[in-house]
Amino acid sequence: MSPISPMSNLLTEQQKTLWHDLLAAARHIIITCHRGPDGDAIGSTTALASWLRKRWDADIKIVAPTIFPDFLKWVPGAEDILVYEHHEEEVRPIVEAADLIIMCDHGELKRMWTLGDAIRPRLPIGQSLPLQPLDAAHSSTVRCIMIDHHLDPEPGIADLVISHPELSSTCEVLLRVMLELEAPSPASGQVGGVFAASPTLLTHDEAVSLYTGMMTDTGAFTYASNRPEIFELISILLRCGIDKDKIYRNVFFTYSPNRMKLMGYMLYVKLDVWKKAHTAIMTFTNAERRRFGVLNGDTEGLVNLPLQILGVKLSIFLREDTEHPCIRVSLRSVDDFPANELASEFFGGGGHKNAAGGEVWGTMDDALAITKKAVQKYMTLLKA
Ligand code: 5GP
Ligand code: MN
Repeated sequence: MSPISPMSNLLTEQQKTLWHDLLAAARHIIITCHRGPDGDAIGSTTALASWLRKRWDADIKIVAPTIFPDFLKWVPGAEDILVYEHHEEEVRPIVEAADLIIMCDHGELKRMWTLGDAIRPRLPIGQSLPLQPLDAAHSSTVRCIMIDHHLDPEPGIADLVISHPELSSTCEVLLRVMLELEAPSPASGQVGGVFAASPTLLTHDEAVSLYTGMMTDTGAFTYASNRPEIFELISILLRCGIDKDKIYRNVFFTYSPNRMKLMGYMLYVKLDVWKKAHTAIMTFTNAERRRFGVLNGDTEGLVNLPLQILGVKLSIFLREDTEHPCIRVSLRSVDDFPANELASEFFGGGGHKNAAGGEVWGTMDDALAITKKAVQKYMTLLKA
């Protein structure tokens, strides 16, 4: 058994100074996340916006690249999130006015789609500019902080990269960053490290947002959540007064009658188990979406269900995108099967070992053909 070690620091002293300098120089901050925001994206951006507003005198807005699911609308602060896609006219001026961008829950500009295209020309990629003052000569450039837990952050886009793929969620990274930034200095004589943080560290609502992200990115602590620090952090959030059982119900027990019927249909009619490959696959078309009156977000979580079948190691869910001529791919796996490697190799995507995704620009038949090739290629690992 390994000895119990205290929670390590994520930030160096240099990074803490850079954090302060970047925020001190900023007047207009936008906090962004990946397209198709999930609980971790919405949780981390809303918690961070609220937390920063109390500490820095800047105009702070959250801009999501696309709409997010209805089951996240209740998250505190989600009502103020601006959506870029289909609202470019109103939101572009806010993006253009920003002097600091804080990217949460993704490490690549391309995961912001058109919002990433709007931001890219303003990033001083490859240039090293003086931090302060951000004078008129540099007014068209924007600074960038990345807070994330995905593998392989895009190089050169952020002045400060806080990227920890070994952690469960961006909300976990963010909570630890908040704790470290507020921790009493050793000279203050207080002991207890991050746990001695001030009682004003987090509001109830910020704790709710952070718990939501940690919970959703771990399938309610059923994967990627064996590290004891996760539960130490949860104990801090509980002390802020969160009702974790209610948060669970808010996210997972929100089905419409149609969503419940859709689940029955998908499992009874659409589920295909490739027994020899220990793989389950389901497809979902826009015609079916219309037939069942499926709303945005209603397909969330369906991909997890086949993992309950004894022996299934990989679950694949292919669904037609509602806005673009492509098939969205969701992958879930158990144990050591690297869903992210398969997603990256065959679906131009990525993610985490047990939860990954990508897309196929083509028809459902194209996506199925690629999926068959992918499963064939990974057969040895699937059979192991
Ligand atoms: P979901 O199946 O819930 O859409 O995505 C699961 C996880 O896979 C996400 O949290 C994200 O980490 C990753 N993921 C999904 N789609 C993509 C993609 O297109 N590119 C990359 N790099 N990661 C993705
Ligand atoms: Mn995440």
